[in-house]
Amino acid sequence: MTTAVTPTEDTAALVARLRATFATGRTRPLAWRMEQLVRLRALFTENREAIADALHSDLRKPRPEAYAAEVDFPVREIDHTLAHLERWLTPTPLDREALVGLPEGSTAGTQYEPLGTVLVIAPWNYPVQLSMVPVAGALAAGNAVVLKPSELAPATSALMARLVPRYLDREAVAVVEGAVPETTELLAQRFDHIFYTGNGTVGRIVMRAAAEHLTPVTLELGGKSPVFVDRDADVTTVAKRLADAKFRNAGQTCVAPDYVLTDPATARALAAALAEAVEGMFGADPQSGEGYGRMVNQRHFDRVAALLDSGTVAFGGQTDRDDVYIAPTVLTGVTGDDPVMREEIFGPVLPIVEVADLDEAIAFINDRDKPLALYGFTENETTRRRLAAETSSGGLGFGLPMAHLRVPDLPFGGVGESGMGSYHGPHSIATFSHRRARLDVPLA
Ligand code: NAD
Repeated sequence: MTTAVTPTEDTAALVARLRATFATGRTRPLAWRMEQLVRLRALFTENREAIADALHSDLRKPRPEAYAAEVDFPVREIDHTLAHLERWLTPTPLDREALVGLPEGSTAGTQYEPLGTVLVIAPWNYPVQLSMVPVAGALAAGNAVVLKPSELAPATSALMARLVPRYLDREAVAVVEGAVPETTELLAQRFDHIFYTGNGTVGRIVMRAAAEHLTPVTLELGGKSPVFVDRDADVTTVAKRLADAKFRNAGQTCVAPDYVLTDPATARALAAALAEAVEGMFGADPQSGEGYGRMVNQRHFDRVAALLDSGTVAFGGQTDRDDVYIAPTVLTGVTGDDPVMREEIFGPVLPIVEVADLDEAIAFINDRDKPLALYGFTENETTRRRLAAETSSGGLGFGLPMAHLRVPDLPFGGVGESGMGSYHGPHSIATFSHRRARLDVPLA
């Protein structure tokens, strides 16, 4: 199902209109930015149920997951920005000793200025959060914004297209719904920044289009995020935290643990503990309850179902195509060459790959593309230090997978194949601003 598109304005005219608004200076004052954020906050708090309904329709997202990730998370991000924005925007002066050779009384420093009109292209898996948190950052930085939500989450896309003009400044913010043709047309326009979240194939298309106008890009991509489980870690705790991060949203989370690396004895204990943790979360039959999500569509169902042939199914493995249901599944005895290890899984399947030791785990990770996140469960400080020093990833988390993205002062983003640039909190301001250098030299 694709979103019905009802263009009310030609794309070029829309972008020209937003650019004209920006040129008036309307979006620059702190007061305008704060007002937009307050209104965006109200969009969330006044439409909590409508948002959860749309997410249920698109992804069968369980309501507690919808509230937590797609309402409360953006509201927390907005509150944090409202509390600190003025400070983040304060010019940063250089120390006097950096100005050697310049006349007495000279001052220098940097100050953020808005970029102009920016484009945010969002994916379907957390369709509200991954649209609105970048939009909040772009507005906080004083820009005009075009949001292009994902056509694969049509109810959510339609809801945002309806709500955004009701809450935000229509002269400065617009939602353009649509699929490839509409996005292609948008990408032909000149923007001052493009913020894209999604897969690397489209990331390349976005970057090529941006190059035409020398437009800077942020690419929030994905990849296979590994988890190293040390033999000293308590498997019951590990299993609970791992299952929560992996099987939420049916595994369709960019920073979800993709696969586990551990020694053979821990692998056996962990598979058993994961089975218990999953039953504790979703009951004996996750399909029958309301607490477990579905694959977004049959194409993604087919893709993930085909990966179940790798290794041995330790538990789970049930599928129902008509219901786009794939049970929470753990695979053991998986090797690096199996199909499940050759692409990002982006579904509720967790392979466990056995390694002899930390050296082999590090070599395995470094043999592959740099992931969006790397997780470790270990009590050992040397192991933590080695994982940090000898690998690379967008983010690094010990003890609680995915929690790093909830800390707004940490930059969230990838490296290499998992993306470029970052956002959240002050990092969104840096992304959607130009850091302008300024030197003042007295005339006399
Ligand atoms: P998707 O299919 O919704 O695509 C993302 C956006 O790209 C959509 O708005 C879509 O309309 C647009 N698009 C698709 N094809 C296009 C084309 N040919 N030209 C121009 N635009 C096009 O989402 P997806 O890519 O399936 O999302 C899943 C991927 O995103 C996974 O790899 C996941 O890891 C990654 N992801 C990353 C993050 C992050 O924060 N780093 C977050 C979520 C998802």
